[in-house]
Amino acid sequence: MPLQFATRLDNVETSAIRELFKLLGKPGIISFAGGFPDSAMFDVEGLREASQAALRDEPGGALQYGATEGYDPLRAQLAGFMKSKGVRDIDPQGLIVTTGSQQALDLLGKTMISPGDKVIVEGPTFLATIQCFRLYGADLVSAPIDADGVQVDRLEELIRAHKPKFVYLIPTFGNPSGALLNLERRRRILDLAVKYQTLIVEDDPYGDLYFGEAPPPSILALSADVPGSREWIAHCGSMSKVLSPGLRVGWMVAQPELLAKATMCKQFSDAHTSTFAQATAAQYLKSGRMPATLANVRRVYAERAATMGRALKRELGDAIEFTQPQGGLFFWARLTGAGGRVKDAGEFAKRAIEKGVAFVPGAPFYAKDADPSTLRLSFATADVAKIEEGVGRLGEAVK
Ligand code: PMP
Repeated sequence: MPLQFATRLDNVETSAIRELFKLLGKPGIISFAGGFPDSAMFDVEGLREASQAALRDEPGGALQYGATEGYDPLRAQLAGFMKSKGVRDIDPQGLIVTTGSQQALDLLGKTMISPGDKVIVEGPTFLATIQCFRLYGADLVSAPIDADGVQVDRLEELIRAHKPKFVYLIPTFGNPSGALLNLERRRRILDLAVKYQTLIVEDDPYGDLYFGEAPPPSILALSADVPGSREWIAHCGSMSKVLSPGLRVGWMVAQPELLAKATMCKQFSDAHTSTFAQATAAQYLKSGRMPATLANVRRVYAERAATMGRALKRELGDAIEFTQPQGGLFFWARLTGAGGRVKDAGEFAKRAIEKGVAFVPGAPFYAKDADPSTLRLSFATADVAKIEEGVGRLGEAVK
């Protein structure tokens, strides 16, 4: 008699991307496939000092069970961090600490989605969110995006037509799109939140990774200018892309009632985020090293992104089109099929692996109406020389 798993698992499947990752073990392969930051850039010294300070200054707090909402010194540091990014009206009680921002998304799914509820996401969007919301039975609606982020006119039509439980956006250097939602669209989204009384989830793990000018303020920060909008915004932040994903420290800012429900659900799930990781993150933020760490990751990723953009133009020419990302970790590109060259990204991925380079086809990132000619390339983990070499191999594979 086989095990009878819960019916909610019927809504999800192991991602096609995981299947592809199995091929990455091939020796000598250059990978643009991952969504990871570069381990070589972790501030190991700073984190060593922070973890030692956590054990020296507050061993009880760092090693004991803790409050589900989060470790208070970290909540205070995170509120200060959000203030430094333009969120004026925030105090430590206005956020909870989560086990990565992934858990914040899961808690939003758990607290908000009943089977059959509509949720609007961007097309394309973060794959794990698609899977997570589907696990709770969401009926996902896909809103089109361009280089300036989600198309707000279409979003309004979709909100009106589907009356979604919430809208999930990655406005700043989205995964996988790399797109940056412009200021005017951010303001209009706040107006829509108020007009349609619709929760907007702003997932923001990449906002600090900008290459030139800082991006516009987060939707959360801008909500202070739009009366009545703040209660309709839930904002998820993360230490993963700038400091360390292994710490599993994320957070969520939202109105008190939603935070209380999410906290209740978190209690049944992991009781609290690792107190040792939280105390370490708190000490790290307190140490004042974060600005230099951010400056360093911005500089390194900016150089890699510039290298990849130039190499793609040179090696693939009109076989591919893309917008140069202004931050984040990804290029989002479309195969044009020009001159009879490959147009299907799945086929291109297979040929690329044979040539010794990997990336992720774009289709799985769509909840609906996938575009099979799209692909995502990460420039985060390969150095400049590897990027040149890897894109050269892509040039061979595209022929
Ligand atoms: N949101 C987006 C858009 C992501 O790309 C990621 C990580 N790939 C996450 C959330 C989750 O990150 P974490 O749980 O490490 O904070």
